[in-house]
Amino acid sequence: MPIVIAVTNQKGGVGKTTTAINVAYFLAKAGKKTLLIDFDPQGNATSGLGVNKAELQSSMIDVVKGDSDLASAVLRTEHKNLWLAPTTSILANTEVELAQADKKFSRLKHAIDASGDAYDFIIIDSPPSLSLLTVNGLIAAKYVLLPVQAEFYALEGLGQLLETMKLVRKGMNPALELLGVLPTMLDSRTTLSSQVHEEIKRHFPGKVFDITIPRNIRLAEAPSHGVPIGVYDKFSKGSRAYKALAKEVITRTQDSLEAAAS
Ligand code: ATP
Ligand code: MG
Repeated sequence: MPIVIAVTNQKGGVGKTTTAINVAYFLAKAGKKTLLIDFDPQGNATSGLGVNKAELQSSMIDVVKGDSDLASAVLRTEHKNLWLAPTTSILANTEVELAQADKKFSRLKHAIDASGDAYDFIIIDSPPSLSLLTVNGLIAAKYVLLPVQAEFYALEGLGQLLETMKLVRKGMNPALELLGVLPTMLDSRTTLSSQVHEEIKRHFPGKVFDITIPRNIRLAEAPSHGVPIGVYDKFSKGSRAYKALAKEVITRTQDSLEAAAS
């Protein structure tokens, strides 16, 4: 079965999509068959991989509505081992429709379960809210990857997300785990950045990734070219960081699965 990771933080603009795209890309580059699911109605992961939302035949909307299986929505990307399940902004309306629907929290989980062994990793990009869609992601996933922007208010509001994870664990997905907290947009020139990094480590002992993501303009430029950072500028600081992060994700998931098996 695939290792499913939801990239989640209800705070906006903390680097979820940048992380989802680039971790997925480098997992694929490391030989892991990887599916990136765009589960945010903003569709940034879709456009960030150069897909024109207006031309989509099928998307995650059809999948969550139950009109289509995951395989029919998935697109092969130009990058080896990397597939994309795109979305369009209509996913936001779908959320309203879903609110009345049967099994509204487990739509994504069922779609993923039915896709069998097609992928080694599935990365879900979540919207900046604790919405029905985000909860669908938490129920479908084994792991949460939590990007936290290195800024003054970084930790504010995270209690709510942890509380939601706790509820999901008590209810529909007892296996859900925090894979790691990822400090993003670190600026090594400022003391604030390193103070916040220290505070994040104090707050999440043992749970912070060794790798941090620096603030790097190349990471912000890459989506407008429709490619991951490893294609746009593979020698940039941002690219090196996400490549190392993908490696750490592979190690952490292997360690966790081995610990569960023994
Ligand atoms: P949303 O909550 O709206 O979905 P998000 O959490 O997915 O946002 P991103 O879209 O990944 O966040 O990043 C927010 C903005 O910051 C984007 O313009 C992105 O290009 C930029 N950005 C992300 N990471 C970095 C970085 N390490 N260095 C510089 N810019 C970055
Ligand atoms: Mg996003």
